Amino acid sequence: MSDLQSLQIPAELLPSDGRFGSGPSRIRSAQISALAEAGAHVLGTSHRQAPVKDLVRRVRAGLTELFSLPAGYEVVLGNGGSTAFWDVAAFGLVRERAQHVVLGEFSSKFAAETRGAPHLDEPLVLAAEPGTRTLPAADPEVDVYAYPHNETSTGVMLPVRRPEGATEDQLVLVDATSAAGGVAVDIAQTDAYYFAPQKAFGSDGGLWLSVLSPAAIARAEELASSDRWIPEFLSLTTAVANSRKDQTLNTPAVATLLLMAEQIEWMLGQGGLAWADERTRTTSSLLYDWAERRAETTPYVADPAARSQVVATIDVDEAIDASQITALLRAHGIVDIEPYRKLGRNQLRIATFPSVPPEDVQALIAVLDHVLDAAG
Ligand SMILES: *Cc1c(COP(=O)(O)O)cnc(C)c1O
Repeated sequence: MSDLQSLQIPAELLPSDGRFGSGPSRIRSAQISALAEAGAHVLGTSHRQAPVKDLVRRVRAGLTELFSLPAGYEVVLGNGGSTAFWDVAAFGLVRERAQHVVLGEFSSKFAAETRGAPHLDEPLVLAAEPGTRTLPAADPEVDVYAYPHNETSTGVMLPVRRPEGATEDQLVLVDATSAAGGVAVDIAQTDAYYFAPQKAFGSDGGLWLSVLSPAAIARAEELASSDRWIPEFLSLTTAVANSRKDQTLNTPAVATLLLMAEQIEWMLGQGGLAWADERTRTTSSLLYDWAERRAETTPYVADPAARSQVVATIDVDEAIDASQITALLRAHGIVDIEPYRKLGRNQLRIATFPSVPPEDVQALIAVLDHVLDAAG
């Protein structure tokens, strides 16, 4: 094992692009070219004028088409990433008490926000061991159900649907940060399906986007007119009003919007969400099947139905130090396949977002075979 670092990986085995990170994620070179060409006219110009507003319009219209929005649903956006949206929701969507499904780092962070909010009651937490899942369950005590579509820290995916028996006055908030754009979804099952651009949409970070139902918008209006103090930066009604004008409250990263618009339109051109869903099923299956075939590896998520199609987590036998594999691959330009830091496992975590073609996943598998054969 100790000489793994001196192993040479033949260049012909390497994937065409070595970026397999779960966020920030691979940005396609066509997007980067668009940034250089179209961007030359719009970067560094006012976000209150038509060219930047047109980028926001393209993002909102593109997502409306990609997710086949039901009547009355709206695409709303603001600055701060998905992390900011947790606070937006704690102020503008949770009336008194939320139920949180907690499966790992990201879902636990949102639960910590509603627990800490002085204007809210103690949340109800349904927790599962890392690598496993549990589903939200109808409960008359809560006015919001919160769960991730894909828990990025563990690679566990949940079905998106309203809990059976949930009432019309209870909202369903789905953290789709890493699933949106890579996994099929029926938006009508949600009231806020929120995400950020740096995962499946292969853009840069810094924005949050949320697809809101009429019930979610009504809740935001109800809470905005109550006596609750809501910081302007985290006000959902302010974000809705700005989004309707294809603007953000304060200055957005124009490059992020441009990369995002390009990616959404690329996805639509390929066949939309059904195409993306099919592609990520294929690429993630390549990895899970491989991990099951090799003696040294196992899919971390034991239940095949819970395995993520966009973030594949693969445990490596303790006899082999996975961090040596990731370091060796990093030296060859294959980056960001380390496990989620706090999970602390001997693991590889490989994103199969729509920007990652099956050929690159096959090449990565060939590289890993080469390394494991040498290690054994
Ligand atoms: C990446 C991620 C986040 C955090 O997104 P930011 O835009 O960095 O705030 C939240 N939830 C999930 C599921 C994620 O994958």
